[in-house]
Amino acid sequence: MLELIAGPCSAESRQQVLSIAKEIDSIKGVKWFRAGIWKPRTRPNQFEGVGEKGLPWLNDVKKTTSLKTITEVAIPLHIEKCLENNIDGIWIGARTTTNPFYIQEISESLRGVDIPVFIKNPLNPDIKLWIGAIERIKASGIKNVYAVHRGFSFADNGVYRQTPYWKIPIELKRLMPDIPIICDPSHIGGKASLVKEISQSSINIGLNGLMIEVHNSPENALTDSSQQITPYALRRLLEELIIPQNSFEEINPIFTIREEIDSLDFELINIINQRMSLAIEIAKIKKEKNIPILQIKRLDEMIIKRLEKTHGTILDKGFIKDIFESIHQESIRIQNEIFKDK
Ligand code: PEP
Ligand code: MN
Repeated sequence: MLELIAGPCSAESRQQVLSIAKEIDSIKGVKWFRAGIWKPRTRPNQFEGVGEKGLPWLNDVKKTTSLKTITEVAIPLHIEKCLENNIDGIWIGARTTTNPFYIQEISESLRGVDIPVFIKNPLNPDIKLWIGAIERIKASGIKNVYAVHRGFSFADNGVYRQTPYWKIPIELKRLMPDIPIICDPSHIGGKASLVKEISQSSINIGLNGLMIEVHNSPENALTDSSQQITPYALRRLLEELIIPQNSFEEINPIFTIREEIDSLDFELINIINQRMSLAIEIAKIKKEKNIPILQIKRLDEMIIKRLEKTHGTILDKGFIKDIFESIHQESIRIQNEIFKDK
């Protein structure tokens, strides 16, 4: 079952919070109502959240719906205020995860408290910072720790607001299999139109839930207006998501094909090894005859010939070019080592 979190980027008024919560409450499967109370804004003098006065509104959500509430905290004072107002869970924002000093302080103020903590990835694609934050929060005794994948900040994010860079959540799953990972397609996409396909991609790689920004009037939202979707759109999105029901342990053909892939990969390693041994032989001759390692003409010819070989295959030319440039680079590195030998 997916862990589903939905709600506005920011709590704006009591009425806004309660009316969105009421609509979300009627959507099957959604467990958590999110709303930012303190907003980390990139530039000053923008709406920085309603602050403490919004916490009782979240408490009213609990009284009037079956949803649990969650908001972002960045400093121990935020945690104190959340606990005073019966907030059910907290999330740590991307900007905060980036800083171990903050995470350590948050961790210390959570000692003896047992509420679920959702830890967003740091802004930069550094898995160690994310793991470090998870370890620090777990060390305070918190049992329910979740990771939230909200994309990473690259110089060029392409069509996204934040690059998904799926290899990092996949690696986190491998290293910390017990930590459920929630995808936040709203902050990855930055546009309402991308939310569905990003949600589907996250499910396809086995992530465990979604945190989606939902507003009853996205165009008038005080923060992140272009990425929020309406409760109606959320309902449709959840209905249309394709959720794999079978675990792959049950699907034998995949196992057989994977075994074949493994043996092909091992063969590839063998072949590359043979290829590098030949490069070493050439390097010895070049050294003896006192000729330079690199002949640029040979590199050009080599790439062209290999690209010709891709005719009639399913292989992408750019991909093959990358592979052979990288093999050639390694061959040059190995030959350089031979040149260094006395
Ligand atoms: C948010 O969820 O509204 C938010 C500010 O998230 P992030 O820390 O991922 O930018
Ligand atoms: Mn937001």
